[in-house]
Amino acid sequence: MDCLFCKITNKEIPAQIIYEDEHVIAFNDINPQAPLHFLVIPKKHISTLNDITEDDRELVGHMIMSASKIAKDQGVAENGYRTVFNCNNHGGQTVYHIHLHVLAGKSLGWPPYQDTLKQPI
Ligand code: 5GP
Ligand code: ZN
Repeated sequence: MDCLFCKITNKEIPAQIIYEDEHVIAFNDINPQAPLHFLVIPKKHISTLNDITEDDRELVGHMIMSASKIAKDQGVAENGYRTVFNCNNHGGQTVYHIHLHVLAGKSLGWPPYQDTLKQPI
């Protein structure tokens, strides 16, 4: 399958892997938006959050549990961090293999960015 994150999972493309187990892998984002920015992905290919099924309930829970564990291991849990799933075009998804962003290491602004079209909500 021609999927970037499947290739990272299969070690066909290098990444700075910070955690791996049977079901998930976590690696540093190539274009970090915070001092610590890593992605937790399932080893199984799922394109978007719209495609998760009842069978994926445990896997998605495991992604979140892994993010929490890694944040503690990386020493950012106490100060805090942000987790984000982007879904499809309006969500800003660019890689179509689900991934949980974890951003940490500074006080993050909210809302995260201004809509470039400056449309009212
Ligand atoms: P999305 O925009 O789909 O929510 O997030 C995709 C993320 O993957 C982006 O933050 C982007 O910087 C990251 N990314 C894209 N290509 C690569 C890559 O080849 N290696 C790594 N480590 N991250 C990547
Ligand atoms: Zn994939």
